[in-house]
Amino acid sequence: MKNDKVFLSLVVPAYNEEEVINFLYERAVPILSSINERFEMIFVNDGSCDCTAEKIKALHQKDSRIKLIELSRNFGKEIALTAGLDFAQGEVVVVTDADLQDPPELIPKMVEKWREGYDTVYAVRRIRQGETFLKKATAKIFYRVSRRLSKIEIPENAGDFRLMSRRTVNALKLLREQHRFMKGMFSWIGFKQTGIPYNREPRIAGRTKWNYWRLFNFAVDGITSFSYVPLQLSSYLGCLAAFFAFFYAGYLVVRTLVWGVDLPGYASIMVAILFFSGVQLIFLGVIGEYLGRMFNETKNRPLYFIQGMVGIDRLNEPNKGTIFFDK
Ligand code: UDP
Ligand code: MG
Repeated sequence: MKNDKVFLSLVVPAYNEEEVINFLYERAVPILSSINERFEMIFVNDGSCDCTAEKIKALHQKDSRIKLIELSRNFGKEIALTAGLDFAQGEVVVVTDADLQDPPELIPKMVEKWREGYDTVYAVRRIRQGETFLKKATAKIFYRVSRRLSKIEIPENAGDFRLMSRRTVNALKLLREQHRFMKGMFSWIGFKQTGIPYNREPRIAGRTKWNYWRLFNFAVDGITSFSYVPLQLSSYLGCLAAFFAFFYAGYLVVRTLVWGVDLPGYASIMVAILFFSGVQLIFLGVIGEYLGRMFNETKNRPLYFIQGMVGIDRLNEPNKGTIFFDK
């Protein structure tokens, strides 16, 4: 099986990346060719409003190994990635960002690890260049919290940049949830995984599509997708409160019987009301987070629609009926 010439698919989600497409092509193709002349590079145009698609089509004209899937709108990176994985035909599949923050030079090393028998080889960031202190700190907190709350282990500082064996990709293709926290899903499917360290470079051109609000929601998605500890917290806290309330109630009864009714008490009542109504609202919110996600999942919609493909055989479509070419 693991012969010298492995057929590799490189999957690249791209959203408004016109400035970087050519850089990526120039840098990745010699490396991929050194592994095997036969490879495919699948760009997924995630509803870009610049010339990303045109750039990719131009590349396809001179090199048919460059392929394009065009989604019907911007669906977000996780879904763009999924679309690429759905159509990738390679014996091994590598996913990477378009902006060259993930150095393609690492791919031959990943293939080597795969030959050693690993199913997933993820790249682990050694240093995070060009990232603010706040981003590094929040990332650290996120990993710590998610490790505590869910039973799956998400490797710290590993991004989406990784190589996957055919069986890993096939397994991943079975997970069709709407809220796709890919890092968690990669870990959840299991198989033999290993990491190799690399230095994450700053973006070569263009701008990041992430801001803190998006990152926060991403983190909430990550935790709610893989853990229901936040839901359980309310019952734990409820039990604790009931426990103390029981003793306090006993004390009040005894006090009233012995010393009679004593009117002052406004402050303690207010404190109790404010505290517990606050706690209740928070947990209503937590329940809402899960309920909203359930609402989205039960609609059972397809993950994406495709409005065009270049160089890709539509017979490979895994979920029939999501491709619309004709106007
Ligand atoms: N991306 C995407 N759809 C989106 C946002 C981003 O396909 O809605 C792609 C983007 O083109 C890039 C990758 O996801 O290839 C990572 O995005 P970005 O560089 O903005 O994120 P960062 O590296 O800052 O985490
Ligand atoms: Mg980037």
